[in-house]
Amino acid sequence: MNNTKTALVTGANKGIGFAIAQGLGAIGFNVVVGARDDLRRKEAVERLCAAGVDAFGVALDVTSDDSVAGAAEAIERKAGRLDVLINNAGIGGRTDGGAQNPTSLDLDVVRTVLETNVLGVVRVTNAMLPLLRRASSPRIVNMSSNMGSLTLQTGPVLAAYAPSKSMLNSVTAQYARELAQTAIIVNAACPGYVATEFTGFSGSRTPEQGAAIAVRLATLPDDGPRGGFFDDAGVVPW
Ligand code: NAP
Repeated sequence: MNNTKTALVTGANKGIGFAIAQGLGAIGFNVVVGARDDLRRKEAVERLCAAGVDAFGVALDVTSDDSVAGAAEAIERKAGRLDVLINNAGIGGRTDGGAQNPTSLDLDVVRTVLETNVLGVVRVTNAMLPLLRRASSPRIVNMSSNMGSLTLQTGPVLAAYAPSKSMLNSVTAQYARELAQTAIIVNAACPGYVATEFTGFSGSRTPEQGAAIAVRLATLPDDGPRGGFFDDAGVVPW
């Protein structure tokens, strides 16, 4: 088996996803930049390669069955297997006009956010599983948020985004249970409050700091934790 490990990062063209790609590239991974916009994807791959990372891009819109199937085919052709999948792509959803206040919730916003943040993760994961099963120590990391923690109930009231991350946490636990007897380790990660386009660059942490927990969970040993929710400080309550 080829010793170079391959990692797919969804939404890797900017923000935390780009930093995860950089972080995994720096420790020797062949990084697949999954991104839906051709130009942004090309520029990200160029920036990674200029920094010495072994990277290539695949067109990937997590809301499209065809796009995700095409990405899996491209990775199979180029790498033959997948060692790590980072489900990072995510959206906050519109908030204008009280669109994410529970009492005036815009159900179309809920559908849109769930389509990307939850169904997108399932769509990508299931398309990549055949490639992950070919790896000796496959890892899946779902980028969640402590806003999805029912215990912490942190951050602003956002009744599409926060529940999408609660559901993603639950889906993560379901995958971990089904895959418990396999080599595939699945966990959820919280990057903290990170300065990216997502937060209007108002977060207190850098994308590199936000990426660190994903890199750690992507490189867990074979006896590492399964089906958990972690940030830099350790376990995040569900
Ligand atoms: P960001 O800068 O807005 O980047 C989001 C990435 O997701 C972009 O690459 C975006 O691509 C991509 N994306 C969105 N919809 C997509 C789709 N349908 N198909 C493929 N890619 C798609 O956000 P970020 O702050 O780096 O956030 C990354 C992840 O961390 C998200 O899941 C977010 O919920 C989570 N998170 C962030 C924070 C924070 O403080 N920033 C805190 C907790 C959790 P385009 O460039 O094409 O839009």
